Formats: sequence, structure tokens, C-alpha cells
Amino acid sequence: MALPALPIDSIVATYKSVMAWQHSGTARDIVVFCEPVRTGCPNHVGYDFINKRASTIYNTGNPYSTGSPFVINSSGIQISGILNIPFASGSTCPVCQGVGFILTPASGIVKARIKWKQSENLANLKGENATVFDGDVRIKVLPADSAIMARANQIRVDGKLCKAKGTPDAVGLRDVAAYYYYFDIAL
Ligand SMILES: [Zn+2]
Repeated sequence: MALPALPIDSIVATYKSVMAWQHSGTARDIVVFCEPVRTGCPNHVGYDFINKRASTIYNTGNPYSTGSPFVINSSGIQISGILNIPFASGSTCPVCQGVGFILTPASGIVKARIKWKQSENLANLKGENATVFDGDVRIKVLPADSAIMARANQIRVDGKLCKAKGTPDAVGLRDVAAYYYYFDIAL
């Protein structure tokens, strides 16, 4: 007599829903700072691939109004400025300074379960079966937030700025139910 097949799909689904339910109850907001996104400069048309420079022709179809703010320079430093600055043909594009692209900072809010290293060590001192991890803080997120977390180089958690450390871990039964990311307090 054959044994009934294990209801793997329902076990996996239950595990994931329990993980999501736990998350909804205990997760807190963290601020995630990603690598700046590099986008083409809207203020000129064309690019000189030989000299690796922006063209010197103003884009009359620039979709931004003269006065739209942008907030970062090519070194990733936040500055103020505008995305639409008409200029004379033959001059350097004043928006990208002739580099050809602009960098836009990306950030967002993610719901995460937060575990500081110290609390793990205290748990160990109490003789509890605590997990040891690398880094000062462990951030657990649901798969929906893994894309932004994978690009995060810094986060602000409990008022502390932290920088990414090591590689993330995935947990789950067959399907990924959550990811762990690790960070050190940034000095
Ligand atoms: Zn430009």
C-alpha cells in the first residue's frame, strides 16, 4: 500500500505565511540607502563615444522644467541644482558638466526584523540557543524587499547609520521565505 504523498506545497505555503505573519507583528521601519542610480542627462542630445563626453547641443525636448531640482553630483555628493538649463551650442552641458550622465540617490523604507549583535551575546550568556552572526546587526526582510536590500550600501536602523557587510542568507522551505542581511555600525 503506497503512502500518501506529503502535502509539500501546503507545508511550504504555511511556512511562508507564518513567516509573513511573524514579520507583520514585529518588523520595524528601517531607512535603506542604495548606490546612486546612473541615468542619462536629459539636458543635452547625443554622446561623443570617442571622447567619452556629452554632446554640446541643448536638448530642446528636455522633459523637466527649468527649475526642477536634482540633488547629486557625479561623485555621489548631494547638491542642489536643476535638470533643465538651456545653453549655447558648442558649450559644455551645465547639468552633467559634459560627463553625459547624472547620479540620482535612491532610498526607501523597508519593514525589517532587527537583531542587534549585543542581544545575541546576552542570549548566549543566559545559555539560550542563540544564533551567532557576523556584523553588528542582522536585518530580516521578506522576499518582496530583497531587490532594494541587495542594492543597499547603508541603512539607518534604530537611529544608527550602518554599512553593509558580507553576503545575505536566504531561509525557507524550498521557496525563499525571508532573507537575512548583515550590517556594521558605520563610524
Ligand atoms: Zn548633459
